[in-house]
Amino acid sequence: MVYLFFAGHWLLSVLMQSLFQHRYAAHRMYVMGPRTERALHLLTWLLQGSSYLNPRAYAILHREHHAFSDGARDPHAPGSHTNAFSMMWSTKERYSDYAHDRRKPEARFDGGTPEWPALERVADSWPVRVLFGVLYGCFYLAFATHAWQLVLMLPFHFVMGPVHGAIVNWCGHKYGYRNFDNGDKSRNTLPFDFLTMGELFQNNHHKYAQSPDFAARWFEIDPGWQVLRLLAAARIVALRTPQRAEYPEPLRRAA
Ligand SMILES: [Zn+2]
Ligand SMILES: [Zn+2]
Repeated sequence: MVYLFFAGHWLLSVLMQSLFQHRYAAHRMYVMGPRTERALHLLTWLLQGSSYLNPRAYAILHREHHAFSDGARDPHAPGSHTNAFSMMWSTKERYSDYAHDRRKPEARFDGGTPEWPALERVADSWPVRVLFGVLYGCFYLAFATHAWQLVLMLPFHFVMGPVHGAIVNWCGHKYGYRNFDNGDKSRNTLPFDFLTMGELFQNNHHKYAQSPDFAARWFEIDPGWQVLRLLAAARIVALRTPQRAEYPEPLRRAA
């Protein structure tokens, strides 16, 4: 039971990060009505729980990443850090500055992100983040069959979002193969990205940053795109950008 809970939380949390924070908030690859946006926003919070990410702060950081990929101003370039922890720590600091309005981003990286201040206030408050942690703990206390599950598996639920971020940002710019020369170190880590719902096609994604499908070759499968495709077929969302669409020039150009 705890394995199912772990796999479910892992996949749904990263799926929402890919669909909502990444493909919607940061890249605006699709549009939807205001009520649908609120429903998806709420669902993202509930599924990401204790490690929910503010869509605006995520989008600013991510747009900077595209503009400066693997350069000195990339907020999370593996080449600038000795390990994934130090990379994610400095990413977290920068993220918090944007989430709490302590740092002003360049205007070209800001705007066009879903706004719901009341939900952000609740989601970002410590009591609420801790409450999610307590709920995960209760589930483990009820269903865990071995003590090591509480010690080794439970902590992952508290920091699911940053763990996904560390895997994608570290491995996606370090390990795997390349389809395109993007002038950076982006790689495709897995041809079938069952681990992070498509996020590990970094090489394809940096080439065609606005394409809602992160797969680019016949053997590659992007599970996040398959879900997005279903949502579009059901008319819950409408796709804005065609496949193989590149990143807009004003955003790409370094300052
Ligand atoms: Zn990248
Ligand atoms: Zn992106």
